[in-house]
Amino acid sequence: MKSLEIIIRAEKELQQQFEILQEIACLNQAKVLDAFRNHRVRDNMFFPSTGYGYGDSGRDVLEAIVAQVFKAEDSIVRPQVVSGTHAIAACLFALLKPGDEMITVTGRPYDTLAGIIGVDHPGSGTLRDRGIRYREIALLDSGEPDWQSLHNHVQPGTKIVFIQRSRGYSLRPALSVENIERVSRTVKSIAPLSIIVVDNCYGEFTENQEPVECGVDLIAGSLIKNPGGGLAPAGGYIAGRQSLIEEVAFHLTAPGLGKELGAGLIDRRWFYQGLFMAPHVVLQALKGALLLAMTFSQMGYQTMPEWDKPRSDIVQAVRFDSADELKKFCQTVQKYSPLDSDVTLEFAQLPGYADPVIMAAGTFVQGSSIELSCDAPLREPFCAFMQGGLTYEHCRYVVGKLLEEMCFNK
Ligand SMILES: *Cc1c(COP(=O)(O)O)cnc(C)c1O
Repeated sequence: MKSLEIIIRAEKELQQQFEILQEIACLNQAKVLDAFRNHRVRDNMFFPSTGYGYGDSGRDVLEAIVAQVFKAEDSIVRPQVVSGTHAIAACLFALLKPGDEMITVTGRPYDTLAGIIGVDHPGSGTLRDRGIRYREIALLDSGEPDWQSLHNHVQPGTKIVFIQRSRGYSLRPALSVENIERVSRTVKSIAPLSIIVVDNCYGEFTENQEPVECGVDLIAGSLIKNPGGGLAPAGGYIAGRQSLIEEVAFHLTAPGLGKELGAGLIDRRWFYQGLFMAPHVVLQALKGALLLAMTFSQMGYQTMPEWDKPRSDIVQAVRFDSADELKKFCQTVQKYSPLDSDVTLEFAQLPGYADPVIMAAGTFVQGSSIELSCDAPLREPFCAFMQGGLTYEHCRYVVGKLLEEMCFNK
């Protein structure tokens, strides 16, 4: 019973934070509904198309809706985009030509992206292997962009400036949309022709605004994270300036074909309904993250972000002293998942990741991380990155079990 008392007390203290998040969800829900109404969605748009997918209006309307929600000119929203990494890679490979320069202003990118850029090993097929020049500007210790280095290194000829909104497997805070806007303005003042690309994974619907309405040219992310609302069974999206979306589409299919082809294949209702649910589901996940942050910091653990700090992603990190403790935390999340609850997790090597990783994902959609999930690379500092949760009730239950396993049944 002790854990329940802690939770009820924490919920009282979190009331004001919960209300702020609720307001954000309401605003985003209205945005999504407006887009649906504007495009007069009908259930015949859910029918899966076949073959080339010519004239697939359900596909085209979904892309128009996503563009409107993100205040972009156009978008690509497809199950053929296999993951968030694929969506981001498509932007980079489409737009960067040999000799071009790309600068990241949020330090080392997420593990799978570092691999496609060739940050550490310019292996075959990476951006560096193709003659793209790459520079990394780390964030300051405060988590703010390094404005001075930005001024020093961005050149008028810089082709792409890359921003990763979410923390990835690092302890830095997510970059706020406000800071993303400042980066965009600063970069454009030096390099008006540069293209600003944001890895928007885990960021969608956590704030009132999205990056494209704040001067960013392209955003990309995964449909088995926030914007899929837990219902989309696979896929990725890209949204932004129309001319850039066309170039990316030419890369994804073939020059001249672009967005005109691509069969729906599966019931498209999952994508539409998932997008409709997304602001609410993101709220569930954020409330769960706050509850974890507050209760675990009360138990003496370091939590990032802290419960009272602003958020721009759904990820909650908790730091442990040992790999064993970290493993136990992830195993507990797995144990109280709706699927595969009897599986005992271990660290293992996964394609695209530098270190062995452990991933708790007892999810309806394989690997979905808008569902309650938790992962961690096997490296110091030992941190669990928990995210998602389709219902706050599930998050709350699991936080209770985590308190019992980690703090009371040691
Ligand atoms: C999840 C994620 C990605 C993409 O991951 P996929 O598993 O390929 O969808 C990229 N960047 C960040 C920061 C992420 O969290």
